Amino acid sequence: MKMLPTVIANLFSKPATRNYPFFVREPFEHARGELINDIERCIFCGACARKCPSQCLTVTKDKTEGIWTLEFFACVGCGVCVDVCPVNCLSQKTTHRPVAVERAVITLRGKLPERPAKKDRPDSIEKTAE
Ligand code: SF4
Ligand code: SF4
Repeated sequence: MKMLPTVIANLFSKPATRNYPFFVREPFEHARGELINDIERCIFCGACARKCPSQCLTVTKDKTEGIWTLEFFACVGCGVCVDVCPVNCLSQKTTHRPVAVERAVITLRGKLPERPAKKDRPDSIEKTAE
């Protein structure tokens, strides 16, 4: 009998939860959501993959092309990769990807930055005596 007022109040009040994914709450201002890579600026250094705590990033490259992959349902949205990227090509939206039932990977390809000619590299410039 003690619970009766609570039960009646709950019967006539709105539910405390939302019917996600049909009703999605507005994101918080600094929420860390979907990870985006501006692949044109990526230099495929691999720093993001080395520091990712959930190991959901992979960076591989050959002589001319780099491949950046993200297993996005394994990403915990911590933002460490964004912080360590030396060229700031990673960013996070405030929203998350839509729900899905299958595991998925994002694969992005890009050209490696051109290396300076050997004669122009700092380690090959001859030191001149003063
Ligand atoms: S840290 Fe940045 S530049 Fe380096 S591979 Fe990752 S996304 Fe590309
Ligand atoms: S946000 Fe965190 S978990 Fe997600 S890819 Fe970046 S470092 Fe990994």
